[in-house]
Amino acid sequence: MKILKALTAAAIGLGYVFATLPVLAREWHPKAVVDGVYSGIQKIHGYKATPRLIWNIREYSRTRCGRIHSSHYCKLDHTVYIMRRDIRMAYRYGDAALAYIIAHEYAHAMQTVHGFTPRYSSFTELQADCLAGVYLGLIPNITFDKKDIREIAAFAYSIGDYAWGSKHHHGTPRQRVKAVTIGMQGSLNGQGVRACRLS
Ligand SMILES: [Zn+2]
Repeated sequence: MKILKALTAAAIGLGYVFATLPVLAREWHPKAVVDGVYSGIQKIHGYKATPRLIWNIREYSRTRCGRIHSSHYCKLDHTVYIMRRDIRMAYRYGDAALAYIIAHEYAHAMQTVHGFTPRYSSFTELQADCLAGVYLGLIPNITFDKKDIREIAAFAYSIGDYAWGSKHHHGTPRQRVKAVTIGMQGSLNGQGVRACRLS
């Protein structure tokens, strides 16, 4: 992940060239990813209905939604929980995979707040993947390069499942990759969340 230096009014001209140069190209520390992605999505939503975030928590931590074993949005306390185990799992792929997890859970919060949660779990999950892609593409000041996009795709593939008919079905590996890719493309071509067929 890369952060783009903010463009100041005085720096227009040659400064613009520098402003578009990545100044941080190494893998980000989890805290930097959490802070950057979370604040970026809040900004996209105009700081409205921001869910609380609790991250780096242990498996089976007790929450208002019971004991949770994977990252989760709990509507009872409007909180996104990001598990320590998932952070470790994401970093087998890279920092962008963690960005995708955060964006996916934030999307569940917005599905709930805005009342567009689909009826079936796999549709809900694939819509959250797609929205996550839109978010990642729109976050100001963070860019995802080809390597990041490969990380996200590989991670999304790895967490797909074939549990058709189960309420835990999140979409097949290929469907999950496709959903997040459609979202990222939607952020680039101006379609935004419409790419996820929300309106
Ligand atoms: Zn989900």
